[in-house]
Amino acid sequence: MIESYHARIPVPSETGSRVAILGGGIAGLSAGYFLRLHSVPFTIYEAKPYVGGNCITFSCGEFRFDSGPHRLHTEDEGVTSLVKSLLGSSLHEVHSPNQVYYKGRFVDFPFSLFSFARDLGLAEFARAAYAYLRSRSSGGKSNDLRSFALSTYGKSIAERFLLNYSSKLWGVSPELLSATLASTRLKGLGVRSVLTEAGRRSGKDHREGKFYYPSGGIGKIVDVLAAHCGRSNIVLESRITEMHHNGSRITSIVANGKGIPVDGVISTLPLPHFIRMPCPPAPAEILESARHLVFRHVLLVGLLLKRPAVTSNATIYFPSREFIFTRIYEPRNRCPTMAPAGHTSLVAEIPFGGRAHSSLIKVIKTDGVFAPCDQRRVTERVISDLVKVGLLQCEDIADMVVVKMEDAYPVILTDTHARRALIHRYLDRFENLKLIGRGGTFRYTSIHHVLRDSRDAINALLGTETIGRVAEE
Ligand SMILES: Cc1cc2nc3c(=O)[nH]c(=O)nc-3n(C[C@H](O)[C@H](O)[C@H](O)COP(=O)(O)OP(=O)(O)OC[C@H]3O[C@@H](n4cnc5c(N)ncnc54)[C@H](O)[C@@H]3O)c2cc1C
Repeated sequence: MIESYHARIPVPSETGSRVAILGGGIAGLSAGYFLRLHSVPFTIYEAKPYVGGNCITFSCGEFRFDSGPHRLHTEDEGVTSLVKSLLGSSLHEVHSPNQVYYKGRFVDFPFSLFSFARDLGLAEFARAAYAYLRSRSSGGKSNDLRSFALSTYGKSIAERFLLNYSSKLWGVSPELLSATLASTRLKGLGVRSVLTEAGRRSGKDHREGKFYYPSGGIGKIVDVLAAHCGRSNIVLESRITEMHHNGSRITSIVANGKGIPVDGVISTLPLPHFIRMPCPPAPAEILESARHLVFRHVLLVGLLLKRPAVTSNATIYFPSREFIFTRIYEPRNRCPTMAPAGHTSLVAEIPFGGRAHSSLIKVIKTDGVFAPCDQRRVTERVISDLVKVGLLQCEDIADMVVVKMEDAYPVILTDTHARRALIHRYLDRFENLKLIGRGGTFRYTSIHHVLRDSRDAINALLGTETIGRVAEE
């Protein structure tokens, strides 16, 4: 397990130490930020010509949109204060609710007692409440998402919302997916949250659509972290391909074909790719396990519109396979500067594929509808779906843009935990290596988890608990 790592990377007193941070997403940049607070020298190696990874804001003329509908979750107070201190007044509170499109209606999401009964009917609500209470009394534990959803939410809710949405998002039948995904991705979908969160302050905020967001886009968090790291400590267009070791320590990395000696390594690279980098290589059984760790990619179709607004929502979810996208969002509802005056935009998220290095790819449906590279057809389909639900008129479209994001969602299957643990046990032998980040740990984590884990990893590394507090002051 990653939690057992106790990397021994030289601390500041050992001058001239060379800590290599692999990957310049939120995880890599925050590791650099925390190391810099303690004057530990480091270099961030990023393959792309820009930092931010899957957490950036794209610009298209005067329109801006994020790499998927991002928001800052506030579950970790330390992380929230840290981001507040980094962004100052440019971090603002947004009030913008979510909805689910279901049977021709836009239903408030997460459900409130009132909307649940109003939009789904009292009979449906009573059935779901009964299923929930029965699952509580039976106390059974489900390993896969399908049985978890059925026993927790009841058949009707589970099938109409949760299971359809999950298989669209992850491209895998829900019985192959881990039940742990329900506690992260699908919070608030059923009666459980309605019954348990009703009246609770945090639940209410979530339902009312309150969250923090930086003016100008989620990429502002990346910008400020990169500025703290220092431009000279970040090497762009630098692809890591190998990691040389002596059995217990990493001795050097290879970036763009050039060997670079290192004293310590913090890797945020996608775990299934990273595990193929050690020289000498990892044992065959470890490589075989890694081939079963698969990422889902995402295509974003942005439509720039000649009208001031379409909805007041943060995000609208589309569980039905009738629609090509899983969800759409209107960036302007997070921050007005995301579109010029009198204009707005809609961005559709279309998960696709799954990079696997084994025959396991067969269980990952390719979705059949379009090859992801056929961007024109995908865009046409997005437009016709949006017209169908009444959110778009073709004459409003000023421009369109398509963006492909790789390795966006780690697909957490029922056997992922065991496979990941095996890989981590192998990597545990390298005393000067730490893994952090969404892809780096192959966990379904959000920005606040990544910042927290990065802070905790550097604190553990330097034997101090002060980093977070220093940053928050
Ligand atoms: C559609 C979508 C919506 C999301 N919404 C939210 C949200 O609302 N709230 C929230 O908190 N989180 C959200 N997230 C999650 C959040 O974006 C991620 O947790 C975060 O981006 C992970 O950062 P990371 O640095 O761990 O990984 P990444 O961003 O993947 O960074 C890894 C970096 O490593 C680089 N790299 C890869 N291979 C190499 C190599 N060989 N050599 C050098 N560099 C390499 C990559 O280019 C990349 O820059 C969302 C994610 C997605 C995809």
